[in-house]
Amino acid sequence: MISMTAVQKHYGDLHVLRDIDLEVPTGQVVIVLGPSGSGKSTLCRTINRLEPIDSGTIAVEGKVLPAEGKALAALRADVGMVFQSFNLFAHKTILENVMLAPVKVRKKSKAEAKTRALELLERVGIANQADKYPAQLSGGQQQRVAIARALAMSPKVMLFDEPTSALDPEMVSEVLDVMTTLAKEGMTMLVVTHEMGFARKAGDRVIFMADGAIVEDTTPDTFFTAPKTDRAKDFLSKIL
Ligand code: ATP
Ligand code: MG
Repeated sequence: MISMTAVQKHYGDLHVLRDIDLEVPTGQVVIVLGPSGSGKSTLCRTINRLEPIDSGTIAVEGKVLPAEGKALAALRADVGMVFQSFNLFAHKTILENVMLAPVKVRKKSKAEAKTRALELLERVGIANQADKYPAQLSGGQQQRVAIARALAMSPKVMLFDEPTSALDPEMVSEVLDVMTTLAKEGMTMLVVTHEMGFARKAGDRVIFMADGAIVEDTTPDTFFTAPKTDRAKDFLSKIL
């Protein structure tokens, strides 16, 4: 579960998150939509304190995130994040990429981490690429490795920030399929995406952001068929 209460953030004069109240209950898949610059990425990045906030509270699994230190590292490990760019370690193999954090942060034995990494690579359909290096994989395959790597930490919640935006069109579905399976298995997910088919099918809820505020918070069906605000209507008229 993620709980954000009265979260405010500025970049200089720019009020980038305006009084955000957001609760993502365990097992729910929340889709974040909104025009460019509305604060979607910033929202994600504050949840594991990649970005500091000015005021308000953010809690994951009921534990308020501290600003820094060991406690932050521990809580961060509960939050898996997948970005548009895959950010894999180029000089490590696929298997090593997935094993690294469990060994370093969770203090798992190498043998245990390897077994789990291979299971996860199997799950995302690339166990046969385990000994290759990231550059030898397609974008879709690299993004599936990034998802496996995040899952290797056994996160309580997963954040996705436009995970398919950098992919060639034919590779989008293989990544969305992995995310759909994860959603069905009950993972708590916050997903920034422009994939409206995925939003409708896999989303339990849509939040729509404009100018740093959440202006609609409803079911995908209601959002797509009966948006309330002019901002949302305008947004939908451009993308649908
Ligand atoms: P997009 O759809 O283009 O990814 P977004 O909704 O994710 O947009 P953010 O990246 O969260 O938007 O940015 C929100 C606002 O904050 C934008 O006006 C952006 O220019 C600004 N911004 C983001 N990061 C910084 C930063 N590090 N310093 C200053 N301003 C920033
Ligand atoms: Mg963004």
